[in-house]
Amino acid sequence: MLLEFTFRCPLPNGLHARPASRLAEVAGRFSADVMLVNVRSGGDANAKSALSIIALGVKLDESCLIRIDGSDAEAVLAALRDFVENVLPDCDEPLPTPTAEKRIILPRSLRIADARWYAGRSVSGGIGQGVVVVASGPSLPKELTEESVGSFDEEQHKVASAVATVRRNLEAMLAARPGAGEAGILRAHLSIAGDVALAERLDELVSAGLSAGQAIVKAGSFFASRLKDADSAYIRERAVDVEDICQQLLAQVCGKNFEEPRIELTEPSVVLARNLAPRQFLSLDKHLLKALLLEHGGTTSHTVILARSFGIPTLTGVTGLRAHLPAGSEVIVDAELGIVITEINSIVRRYYERELRKRARLQERFAVHVQAPAVTRDGMRLEVAANVATPEELAPAFEQGAEGIGLFRTEMLFMDRRAAPSEEEQFAVYAQAAQAANGRPVIIRTLDVGGDKPLPYLSLPPEANPFLGYRGVRIYREYQELITTQLRAILRASALGALRVMVPMVCSVEEVRWVKKRIAEVQAELKGDGVAFDPAMPLGIMVEVPSVAFVLDQICVEVDFFSIGTNDLLQYFLAVDRDNDKVAGLYSVRHPAFLRLLGRIVEDVHRHSRWVGMCGEMAGDVQNLPLLIGLGLDEISVAAPDVPALKAAVTRCSAAECRDMFEAAAACSDIAGVESVLATFRSRPAWGATGGSSASVAAETSGPPRRSKQAASGTPSTQEQRSTGLLDTELISVDSDSTSREEVIKEIVDALHVAGRTHDAASVEEAVWAREDVHSTGLGHGFAIPHCKTDAMASNSIGVVRLKQPIEWAAVDDQPVACVILLAMRESDEDGTHMKVFSRLARKLMHEEFRGQLMAARDSNAILKYLAEQLELPT
Ligand code: PEP
Ligand code: MG
Repeated sequence: MLLEFTFRCPLPNGLHARPASRLAEVAGRFSADVMLVNVRSGGDANAKSALSIIALGVKLDESCLIRIDGSDAEAVLAALRDFVENVLPDCDEPLPTPTAEKRIILPRSLRIADARWYAGRSVSGGIGQGVVVVASGPSLPKELTEESVGSFDEEQHKVASAVATVRRNLEAMLAARPGAGEAGILRAHLSIAGDVALAERLDELVSAGLSAGQAIVKAGSFFASRLKDADSAYIRERAVDVEDICQQLLAQVCGKNFEEPRIELTEPSVVLARNLAPRQFLSLDKHLLKALLLEHGGTTSHTVILARSFGIPTLTGVTGLRAHLPAGSEVIVDAELGIVITEINSIVRRYYERELRKRARLQERFAVHVQAPAVTRDGMRLEVAANVATPEELAPAFEQGAEGIGLFRTEMLFMDRRAAPSEEEQFAVYAQAAQAANGRPVIIRTLDVGGDKPLPYLSLPPEANPFLGYRGVRIYREYQELITTQLRAILRASALGALRVMVPMVCSVEEVRWVKKRIAEVQAELKGDGVAFDPAMPLGIMVEVPSVAFVLDQICVEVDFFSIGTNDLLQYFLAVDRDNDKVAGLYSVRHPAFLRLLGRIVEDVHRHSRWVGMCGEMAGDVQNLPLLIGLGLDEISVAAPDVPALKAAVTRCSAAECRDMFEAAAACSDIAGVESVLATFRSRPAWGATGGSSASVAAETSGPPRRSKQAASGTPSTQEQRSTGLLDTELISVDSDSTSREEVIKEIVDALHVAGRTHDAASVEEAVWAREDVHSTGLGHGFAIPHCKTDAMASNSIGVVRLKQPIEWAAVDDQPVACVILLAMRESDEDGTHMKVFSRLARKLMHEEFRGQLMAARDSNAILKYLAEQLELPT
């Protein structure tokens, strides 16, 4: 029976890979032949082949004809009609557009620059500028020369088993329930790997005498080039998917790894890729890699974790950006704001020059904390360690002041390869860690794979609930040899430094006992062989399964230390998938129940005189720091680039105040309550007021004497008190090259930020503009006095900028402004200072003598002295 029907393509991006694969999937369920005809071009395609459908190049609103021939034609017609009407319209994902709608608030200077920008999800902070290098991911060799070609049956068998393996791997990845975007791609890949047109082409080529590998290269190039000829940029881009799958097939038949082409960088670059394998990332020249833009990658993927460790600004979720960003174009990735700017005009360029200058000054301020221990104002010591996943990260981590390695995720050594690393290979890595640490502790976590992190060579079965499945310590019994080899390597390296071993995903004391038994066996073996090891190497566990919190009395008897893995602990405790965007709003470490759980864990562990740290992502967010100090943790372990800022922030806190705040937060009934307790805490001068001076205090008295002095007195030093006065030379610039109101205000607010008088420069800037927008603060005679009241300020401050070139300020006398004096006051402890100082200043500025003295003052010291005297301010 022959049946037909027509429909219009409803998809803005045409029939690309994902809708095509869904259509092919439906047609493929039936025995009838199904053809899809593009009425415009007259071309037709086997509708059971996603590749053939994509190559038809059907665009939005184009008319398509479906022709069905076979005994079950009626059933096919009903199923396809249903698909076309009810499923197809939702099969698309819009391309990213300039993302004003993503509600990112740009700083004022960028807003007026009218720059073109796109948003992404920031997963590693910082700012990077460079030329776009499109990592096209896998690329097929032009041709393949084979030494020998087997019989038709042999080569056909190779093709069939490669297809089966690649499909199995993709199914396993899909079973791990990735986010919606990634799942769509995986499904499309799955359908390409099983595509009938691809299978037919491979069959023809092998019949013509080609080897399996040669057939894959030829078929892949054939389909990829058909897609590359499509009118739509979106469909052209899908050629990458075909090459990707053929790559994977080739890797299976040739046993060589074609999956990770090396990306050569020759100038400061921003790498744009669909995704990057961790090893590809590691092979990039980090001096030239300024930022990463990934279509996929999640927030906890290994490449993202590595990017964070190396301090590479990274945005994910930039699907479709490749169509807008040509290779070689210059972009700025601002991973603080979560945007990539694609047109860099002079205003943007100046903004980022200044922003980078500010960040460099902040780094300098933190530098004094780098090698000093982190001690609170009242003398509590918190160890700040680093998380690493590769040996390459060790040296940078210690350079940034890590006091140890709180988590060495060893699974990276086992991934992206065909077999597990040998004992010798692992020993070399752990020994390197021990030596690089130079006496500092290094916590090596044993293998944490399975479930969501499959290792192809372990053939772990796909699971319906991988996060609740076969992962971490749970696979150790079955893969005892694997884990014994790792334990041998760790124990041998323990002879060379302060290594500790930590077990992931423990949920009961039996698992700990089992691992201890294996360790004892390995120790006995090593002893028998006369191999050196540390018999007292401490053993710990990750606290990431909530049940552990309730058997700590028993586990404390068995182990020496604990590290709280908040990434998993939170997802299991709140029943919220850590990688599912749909429920990301529920995944909050500030849930009071979670804080109570953390409180219970730390209290129980300490009652047994054991040590407890935290290595989950909660520890790396400086906003959480007061909670963590209040909790009483012994250590936090974070991405290395975060170490200096966290150490600096520790010195601003009082442990006693943090403890009170933690109690109040944990007693709240909901997340909003906790947020508000935290916000109130942050708005107190104590959280930030001493920040600016902490640099000079630490510089003057760094090292143990300072710690004991502070611990004993519990009071801030005189240096701290002085710099919280309204005036400070750090806030005065006498030779500014700012060229607009926006630049001047940013310059002064940046100075407040660098001096530690605010930790939220964006809010202070907004507060200044809120007044400035209502009426200009240009008082006339070349002076302006912008001002604000906000608790984003840690202490009341006056900033001064004297300009090289006067600028337009919409002043009352229409004259340009040459000197700007900005008053930034705290809102909640306002005692009339603002009005007092403001009106005194406004009155003084009416006098020519006062203005003349300010303009003629030799330097910032002279301005400070004169202002203090005239405004009757203490210095
Ligand atoms: C955690 O779960 O918090 C953790 C540190 O482990 P991972 O992120 O490697 O699962
Ligand atoms: Mg974990």
